[in-house]
Amino acid sequence: MSKAAVHVGLDQPLEVRDDIEVAAPKAGELKVRIAASGVCHSDLSVQNGTIPLPPPIVLGHEGAGVIEEVGEGVTGFEVGDHVVLTFVPECGECFFCSRDQGFMCEKAAMLNMGGMLDGTKRLSSGGQDLSVMAGCGTFSEVTVVPSISAVKIDKDVPLKIAALLGCGVQTGVGAAMNTANIRKGDTVAVIGCGGVGLNVIQGARIAGAERIIAVDMVESKLQLAKEFGATDFVNAGEGNPVAAVQALTNGRGADVAFEVIGLGPTIEQAMQMTRGGGETVLVGVPRMDVMLNVNPAFSFIYTAKTVKGCWYGSSNVHREVPKLLELYKSGELKLDELISREITIDDVNGAFDAMKSGEVARSVIVY
Ligand SMILES: [Zn+2]
Ligand SMILES: [Zn+2]
Repeated sequence: MSKAAVHVGLDQPLEVRDDIEVAAPKAGELKVRIAASGVCHSDLSVQNGTIPLPPPIVLGHEGAGVIEEVGEGVTGFEVGDHVVLTFVPECGECFFCSRDQGFMCEKAAMLNMGGMLDGTKRLSSGGQDLSVMAGCGTFSEVTVVPSISAVKIDKDVPLKIAALLGCGVQTGVGAAMNTANIRKGDTVAVIGCGGVGLNVIQGARIAGAERIIAVDMVESKLQLAKEFGATDFVNAGEGNPVAAVQALTNGRGADVAFEVIGLGPTIEQAMQMTRGGGETVLVGVPRMDVMLNVNPAFSFIYTAKTVKGCWYGSSNVHREVPKLLELYKSGELKLDELISREITIDDVNGAFDAMKSGEVARSVIVY
């Protein structure tokens, strides 16, 4: 039996149940005892319907734990191994993986249906099958995942730190280090200094950016941005942020501008505050009805700007996770500072409330 937080219906609190049956892993799968799981905005997005995944489903898509059972045919993993779980697997064999674009792995689509790669489910409660979010279900003490969704890590890494690597850190740091082409000495602007934005900021610092302009409307977030490496601060509530960024860059604009909110107006601002010949990187995930406006098309071409979409930090997880942990161990990547509160699974709804109220808080469930 496992304890898990289950999404049971639109806008309803998650149900914490302790009667979860966990079936044995099938071929190519791992049973993992979760040590810690991040609580991410995307979990909230399932609860409120922005991400339409049918209940009942065990949420949680970034976590780390210890392997309890290894399914048939799995190589490279043993019972007792520590792993990071990711919602973007890397199968290593599909069209995209073979082109070094693991973040587009074709197997991810199957996992988004809520089951394993064969479409069947491993968790159940009261005789009813439960889906798991993105092949992970890290809001369960014990879960089953496809082995391509797990990355083995050294045992000396604290698992609550490792738990952060599956989602926001990978996306934010990857946006700066993989998606964007930041050169040493560059000036970058980052619109949105929440959990992912802070990681874009520290990724930009590691990538060699000299000036990092943090843009947000919340003063406390700008303060936090400073701890992660931002050097200049624009409160977008106090005037036009495009003009402010231009004023800080001799009227040119930033070499690279990141949008990490996912709103139409801020996406346009990011494009406008990018210098001619520079790059705009779109990280924030907008609603389906948000349209990109590049009018007038003439100036877009004349100024030779590049706009890049960034999914999962353009990361190949099996390569990135060890790299991120090296950066953490060397002190360059701040991870401890990202955790604002440790909670138990029973407090998961409180963590959702904290996110709804706009706190910067990253809550981590520790089992
Ligand atoms: Zn997430
Ligand atoms: Zn693949």
